[in-house]
This record gives sequence, C-alpha cells and structure tokens, in this order.
Amino acid sequence: MIEKFEVLRRLQSLTNKINEFKISQERRKQDVQEKKILVENKRIIAENKHKGKLSIQKEIDRKELDIKTNEGEITKYNVQLNSIKTNKEYSALITKIGSKKADMSILEDEVLDTMSRLEVANQEYEKATEGLRNEEKILGDLMVCVDTETKETDNEIEKTKNEQKKYIDLLDEHSLKQYNRLSNIKGGKAVVPVIGNVCGGCSMNVTTQTLNELMGGKDLVFCRSCSRILYLDKNSD
Ligand SMILES: [Zn+2]
Repeated sequence: MIEKFEVLRRLQSLTNKINEFKISQERRKQDVQEKKILVENKRIIAENKHKGKLSIQKEIDRKELDIKTNEGEITKYNVQLNSIKTNKEYSALITKIGSKKADMSILEDEVLDTMSRLEVANQEYEKATEGLRNEEKILGDLMVCVDTETKETDNEIEKTKNEQKKYIDLLDEHSLKQYNRLSNIKGGKAVVPVIGNVCGGCSMNVTTQTLNELMGGKDLVFCRSCSRILYLDKNSD
C-alpha cells in the first residue's frame, strides 16, 4: 500500500505541475499583450508619418496657389503696361512686375525644396507602413500559436487534474484538509523531505523524536518548526 505522505507528495507534485502550466500560459498571454502594444505603437508611428506627409502636400498646394496668384497679377500688370500714359507710371509698374517675379522665383525654389521633403516623408511613411504590416503579421502568427498552445496546455491541466483525483480518492478527508491548508499557507510546498536530519522546508534540524516517528509511524509527521508534512528522503543517508 502506498504511504500517505507519498500520496500527498505526488498530489503536491501534480499541483505544482498544474501551476507551472498556468504560469506558462500566463507568460504566453503576456507575450501576446506585449506584441499588441508594439503593433499599436507602430500604428501610431505610421499614422503620424501619414499626417506629416499630408501636411507637406498641403504646404506645396498653398505655395502653388500663391504662384498662380502671382502669375495672374503679372499678366494683369502686363496688360496695364499697354495703356500706360507716363514714363513714371511705366517704370513703377515694371518695378512691381520685377518684384512679383522675384517672389515667384523664391516660391518656386520653396516648392522644389518642399517636394524633396515630401519625397523623404513618403519614403518614411512607406517604411513605417511596411514595419507595421510586418509586426501585424508576426502578431497574427503568435496569436494562432499561443491559442494552439493554450488548448494543449488546457488538455494537460485536465489530464493532471484527473490524475490528482486518483490520489485524492486515496486520502481521508482530514489529511486532505490538512494538506490543502498547509499548501495554501506554504505556497505549494506542504510536503518536504528530511535531508541529513534537516527539514527541507525550513532548514531547521528535526528532533530525534520526529525522526523516530518518521521511521516507525504510519501516520503523518509534521515539522515542529514550520508545521510542514515530512518524509524521509530515500536518497539521503
Ligand atoms: Zn520545517
């Protein structure tokens, strides 16, 4: 017959196994969460690049409109030149035309300059979009992968729980309660080996009486320092 401490030790080992499965599931969920945040950041970057691009395009449109307005005024002044009466008026108009042409030249230079900036902005936007698409793809793959893993782990947890039931059925209600209470208090470490006369839970020396109980008794033996359930480690001396 399997000894009570051994039943509890196996029960504990299965509980720890389930906890490890759950921790690994949480970790993978965390991976997905982190990737989602990364994708969201990439999306914001791409959106900002898009806004930047549009704003430069607007700047070009405004300047081109200014050029058209200037062209219109120059045409108007040229028509006026035909009906000029005095030399003074004539040279005043010529000066105006000259000034408008100078403005135009500056505007045209500015348009060229802004167009180069637009080209850079377009490239940056393309790059940001591509980066976003890549990360979205990686996230999608990761989610599928984690989903499959989670289902597999859920199955493993279910199997382990069924296995636990076999051991739970072997225990009396009182021992099970004692074990569960200890397991909750001691963070899943309720059953510990005695190695070299030392409790594997609290590292305190166990008394000779406790050792005698462990070697002779059939019932559960508790550490007098930390109250954990003890068993003799067969591998130790
Ligand atoms: Zn102890």
